[in-house]
Formats: sequence, structure tokens, C-alpha cells
Amino acid sequence: MISVFKKPISLVALYLFTLTALTAQKKSGDVLTQLDQKSEAYGEIAQTIWDLAEMGYQEEKSSALLQKTLSDSGFTIQKGVAGIPTAFIAEYGSGSPIIAIMGEYDALPGLSQERLAEKKSAGKAAGHACGHHLFGTASTAAAIAVKDWMTATGTTGTIRFYGTPAEEGGSGKVYMVREGLFNDVDVALHWHPSSQNAASAGAALANKSAKFRFYGVSAHAAASPEKGRSALDGVEAMNYMVNMMREHVPEKARIHYVITQGGKAPNVVPDFAEVYYYARHNNRDVVIDIFDRMVKAAEGAALGTGTTMDYEMIGGTHELLPNLTLQKLMHDKLSMVGGMEYTPEEKEFADKIAKTLGYKEANLAMAKDIQPYKTEAKAFGSTDVGDVSFTVPTVGMGSATWVPGTPAHSWQAVAAGGTSIGNKGMMIAAKTITLTAIDLLKNPKIVEAAKKEFLERRGPDFKYIPLLGDRAPALDYRK
Ligand SMILES: [Zn+2]
Repeated sequence: MISVFKKPISLVALYLFTLTALTAQKKSGDVLTQLDQKSEAYGEIAQTIWDLAEMGYQEEKSSALLQKTLSDSGFTIQKGVAGIPTAFIAEYGSGSPIIAIMGEYDALPGLSQERLAEKKSAGKAAGHACGHHLFGTASTAAAIAVKDWMTATGTTGTIRFYGTPAEEGGSGKVYMVREGLFNDVDVALHWHPSSQNAASAGAALANKSAKFRFYGVSAHAAASPEKGRSALDGVEAMNYMVNMMREHVPEKARIHYVITQGGKAPNVVPDFAEVYYYARHNNRDVVIDIFDRMVKAAEGAALGTGTTMDYEMIGGTHELLPNLTLQKLMHDKLSMVGGMEYTPEEKEFADKIAKTLGYKEANLAMAKDIQPYKTEAKAFGSTDVGDVSFTVPTVGMGSATWVPGTPAHSWQAVAAGGTSIGNKGMMIAAKTITLTAIDLLKNPKIVEAAKKEFLERRGPDFKYIPLLGDRAPALDYRK
């Protein structure tokens, strides 16, 4: 099965890659044909990043591969932006409009998985359980396709690819926004791997996360407990108070934590303990309030347990500001591109995955169809795209890179993302983003309308305040 889904880099694909870049294309049909011709080469890039499975801020090789792909295609690269070694901007063209396409490439810890329809670790520290290997690659493909179209048609403007690291908990884009790197952008486009094809309005929960550290005094837990002060007591007292607080926060707030350090041995009173918290809600003001109350609980816990406490902000992102002008355009393009068909082999793989998720078989209509357009969405997770969406008009979509019914952050997502199913789903996004960007370059009126809507939705008094404050990028948050 592996040999079927993961082919070694083929010379034919590389040759086509170079050849098609030189062929002029004027119509949108040509653009799509060219993307089809390069899909094998892009699939190989995505699968290389899948194999690398580098975690947030450690994506050196993945970032370098995308940078090389873009620079080989004529983009100018600015690397290490916003104080982040793996963040970069690739640019082609000049003047307005400036169209940005975002790409992610970080993997998730603890989710290593083979390209198999059964749970089996590949023995690595991380896995691409959110499909960001596809995300970065498809966005790269789109940026290059738009550039080729601009060259062929003599269209002016700027196309930029934003290489945005550490989306998973690292808030990479927030530092790039804070640095002002998006300020001159007219429209920003993004997408996300999914188990269905949709370009409806998106939503996300604003969040704030921090590591609370308690410091106590070590002592023999049996011989001289009175001499000790337990840092773990501090953590437990904080957790107790925060858990009581759940009854008194606005509905739909989400609070979660893990104890990352709680001592080493029961017979030693722990002098250090750490708890890592997230607070989320679809309104960032609520998140700020809950987080401030969490800090109070931590202070109270330290006071009551005779320990001391400090905390480090780790992440913080805004909710997502929708832009229906752009969303409708993207939905129309996605409908034009259409979904995907599974080969019998892919169906067999998908049915096996579907069974592990409690389904009788894979619902392939979900991969084939485009979901009806909706102007409102429910927010479940968070994304640092939120901060971009409050800076410039932003639009996104999802495509069926996973077997229908697969949740993100699961081994099933890693597995399908490592096969031709992931590669095919990714090309739906690459094509849709390309067509959307081309329309924006051709029609200044759409850009104008999108900006008008953006300013109205954001409100006249809006001031951008990053939820993670002024901290430097948390480059070691995965270490
Ligand atoms: Zn993701």
C-alpha cells in the first residue's frame, strides 16, 4: 500500500514542473490544467514534509523546502521574519493589489502514524494530524500558479506567500501581524485540510494560553513534611479554583489544562510544578476576562500553599472576522473546481479508516460534493489566522484531504494525509485559491468591496492588541 501512495520523486514530475512553468497560460482553464500537470510534484513535496513531521518553530527543513520551491519559481524570499527562523515571505511582482496566501507546515507532538488504515506509530515525535504539510504545499502551488498567470497575461500587482510556522499553539502569525508584516496587504487567503469541501463563512474561538509555574520547598515527605511546601499543591489548588470558576463564566467558554510537571517521586515534596492552561471563547474580551481571573486563582493558590508562582504567556489569538464578499467569491470558485473521486484502492483504504471511526463505510459523497454556502459558522477551535483577519480582509476554505468523518488531530488524519487522498484534496484547495486570487487581481472592485465590509465589521474604534502581549516568539514551546 505504501508504494502505491508514496512514490519516490519522479524525474518526469520534476521535468513537467519546470516545463509547465515556462508555458504561457491565459485562461483559467489553462491555470487548472497546469496545476493538474504539477500535482504529482506537489504531492511529493507535501509527502516529504509529512515525513519530516517537524513541530512548531522547529520546521527548518519544511520551511526551507517551500522556500526553495518558491524561489526556483521566481519569488524573492525574505526569511527569518518577525524574529522567527522558520517564518518567511516569498514575493513576486510589484505594486497593488497585494494578495497574500498563507501556508502552514508544523506537525503535532505525540501523533506519529504510519501510512496505514490501522493505528500504528511511525516512531517519530510528531505527526501531521492537522494536515499542515498539505496546507503549506497547496498554498505554495497556488502562489506559483498565480505568478505564472500574471506573467502570461502581463497583469500587474503583487503575489505574496506567507510562510507561517507554529500554528498549533505557537501563534506564529500573531508575531507576524504584530510586526506589521500584513499591513500593506489588500486581501489574505488561506485554507485548511478537512474531511469535506466547503468555503462557507468561518469562525474560530479567541484564546489565551499560559504556563503557570509554582515554586515550593523540597523535604522528605515522611520524615520532615513540615519543612516542605509543595509546588504541586499550588497547581492543585489553582486547578480546584479554576474548576469552580467554570460555573461562573459565560456560556461556551472553554477552559482546559494539563499538568506538565508535578514532581518526580511521592517521597519528595516537589519544589517545582507547572500547569499549562488554555482559555477560549468566541469573543476575545471574554477570554481576556477569564484569563485575568485564572491569574488571580494562581496567585491565591500560591498564597494558600506557601509557594510562589509566575507564569509565561504562550499563545493568544483573536477570533475569526468573516468577510462574506470574499467568501462568496471563494465558494463560487470552489464550486467550479469541484470535489474529488476516489480510486477503488483509495476507497478500500477509506472504508477501513471509516470503520475505525464507527462508520459502516466511507461516505465518499462528502469528498465529491461541495457543501452548500452558509453565511454563519460555529466556532470549535482556534487559529492564529484570527489575528490576520482583524488586520486585512481574509478568506478561507476547507477541502476533503481526510476520509469523510475524520476529526482533526487524530491518527486517521495523519494516515490519510500521507496518501494520495491527502494529495488530491490539497489540489482542490490549490486550484480554488488560485482562481480566487486571479479574480481579485482582475477586479479591483471586489477588493474595494471586501475592504469596505472589513472596515464595517471591525468597527471604527478597533485597535489591534495582541492577546499574547509583548512577549518574544515562544521558539522553545515544544521543547
Ligand atoms: Zn490546523
